[in-house]
Amino acid sequence: MQAKLLFLWTLAVTALIAQNQPVLGEDTVKVSDHVWAIMGWPNIAIVVGNRATLVVDTGLGPRNGATIARVAAKLAPGNQKLYLTTTHFHPEHAGGDAGFPAGTILIRNAAQQREMELHGKEMIDLFAGRSAQNKELLANAALRTPDIIFEQEARLDLGGVTARLLWFGGAHTKGDELTFVEPDRTLISGDVVQNKIVPGIFRDGGTPSSWLAVLDKVAALNALHVLPDHSAPGDGSMVALEKKFISDLRTSALELKKQGVAVDDAGKRLEGEFKTKYPTWPSMNVSGFVRSIYAE
Ligand SMILES: [Zn+2]
Ligand SMILES: [Zn+2]
Repeated sequence: MQAKLLFLWTLAVTALIAQNQPVLGEDTVKVSDHVWAIMGWPNIAIVVGNRATLVVDTGLGPRNGATIARVAAKLAPGNQKLYLTTTHFHPEHAGGDAGFPAGTILIRNAAQQREMELHGKEMIDLFAGRSAQNKELLANAALRTPDIIFEQEARLDLGGVTARLLWFGGAHTKGDELTFVEPDRTLISGDVVQNKIVPGIFRDGGTPSSWLAVLDKVAALNALHVLPDHSAPGDGSMVALEKKFISDLRTSALELKKQGVAVDDAGKRLEGEFKTKYPTWPSMNVSGFVRSIYAE
């Protein structure tokens, strides 16, 4: 148990250091028997079977995509087949597909692809405008049409390991995709399940209730390991904690709404309250999510 705790602690520290690094490195950590991760902004999952490899997320721009493809090839030199999928359409998750080698099989769910077609380019321009470094990284970003689009589930047999790509509904975005790796029982959770991070709904992505409905389906998977995109990996208890936090915040916010408390005041009050309730969370900026709860 002690070794396991030390391992999780090391992962947590690595994740914390790497969380704001848009240029991904080539170091990996092993999450479970078939799953490795490059820790960074965002964390990238690489699922290795004995015939094929699956990468989840591209990093920000083609240079990061190329780095990930190199790491994937190093982890499984014999694998000819490379699949690529994305947790959601935001540029640090999906804007690097041009860096992957020709022949990479791009696969994502239909809801996510619709968002990509409607707002993918707009988001790349938005992110490129945030810093000179982003601009450079996104300069040659090209969004290509997926080779495979699925509605609710696609199963990839990678040889000795299966990746289930799942769309359970809207949460952080409309097209949030989850990857469940069997037999490892490792969940690659994107923004849907994070490690002590206040959830955020992007524009009209999902709603607090749709997020909770997604989490019910995630809970049924009974994950043993969870690798989120913007926080440290952990065990399956992260799923229940995510659900508890959102339900808790929703109940409290709806109570204040009933009392006629203005949404901004509710956000401030709940920030204080939840800092006490969840003291180990690094930040408790709940005002955005409280606004989503009020709006639903
Ligand atoms: Zn996002
Ligand atoms: Zn992100």
